[in-house]
Amino acid sequence: MKTAEEIDSMAAAGVSMSRAMLEAMLDAAREGVLVVDPSTRITAANRAAAATFARRDETLAGKRISEVIRNAPLHEAFQRAVQIGASADLRVELTDTEKHSFDVHIAPIVIDGAVHAIGLFYDTTQIERLERVRQEFLSNISHELRTPLTAILAFVETLEDGAIDDKENNRRFLGVIRRNAERMHALIADILELSLIESGKVSIDTKQVTLSHLVQEVFASISAKAKANSISLVSDIDAAESIPADPTRLDQILTNLIDNAVKFNRPGGSVTVALERRGDLALISVTDTGEGISAEHLQRIFERFYRADRGRTREIGGTGLGLAIVKHLARLHGGEVSVRSELGRGSAFTVELPL
Ligand code: ADP
Repeated sequence: MKTAEEIDSMAAAGVSMSRAMLEAMLDAAREGVLVVDPSTRITAANRAAAATFARRDETLAGKRISEVIRNAPLHEAFQRAVQIGASADLRVELTDTEKHSFDVHIAPIVIDGAVHAIGLFYDTTQIERLERVRQEFLSNISHELRTPLTAILAFVETLEDGAIDDKENNRRFLGVIRRNAERMHALIADILELSLIESGKVSIDTKQVTLSHLVQEVFASISAKAKANSISLVSDIDAAESIPADPTRLDQILTNLIDNAVKFNRPGGSVTVALERRGDLALISVTDTGEGISAEHLQRIFERFYRADRGRTREIGGTGLGLAIVKHLARLHGGEVSVRSELGRGSAFTVELPL
């Protein structure tokens, strides 16, 4: 037979065990959980709530909900829960240092005979940001595809309306149609490539790559375009240098950077590719003597579809996706890409790859 005392202490242990379990579960939850007493003072907060709402090391317990979260509809909802037992669902936006959005569920809960209220805070900031990015991407794609498509339709119509027999212009019109179709083709190829990389389906297969070799191959594929604008392509890389990288992906990175360096250069300019080893990094730089990029554009050129000069770059066949692809591919290697530029003097893009 157990004594009454033993039973009491077992019961107490049981109670504290279930409380510990409850606390552990609440602390593991990603949602913030706050409980307030009948006077809307906080009596319990889990770890997520403390991380979100507490300033530095302050404890939330004992504070009024209105001191901790400045949002009138939220206070009212907590008040109605403790006063008339009403539940509520609301969306709350908090602008502290950063903007955060929450889906909040508030419900009354009776503790020790008194009506308290429990609030569950589900942080939707990240989901909303992703949704916005996705929508922007879709609207950009539609816009980018519509421009060449409109041109194609217009020139087909012109040909149908009689220009097909116009010996002087019919081939020129066909040329415009072809160029715009090629633009759409390039755009779709880049979009597919980017979405493949972003979905995490591209893996990096690292080998020792002889860099000077690879650079010469890229130069060869771009040489016609460079020659047409009298731009010299220079490789400053020792023939013996090799670095660990995925050859196909590094080719793609260099092709994009060198192609831009030619496209945004001036007649008679040059493009120089160089390699520097710094600590455990290989720094591959592509430097041009082109028009340069102003500071306002510089921070945004790695964004999808961002172009410093929309009209002109479309004309010379840019999709606005090349640098976004370069950035992703550099990061897949565990590296990074950066740019320095001086307006009127040229730009230098540097790809950092871990050795
Ligand atoms: P695009 O297909 O337009 O070249 P990118 O993503 O490769 O798209 O480049 C984005 C924008 O960055 C370009 O439209 C251009 O405005 C700018 N840019 C990229 N490389 C250079 C460069 N070497 N010199 C000047 N501007 C550049």
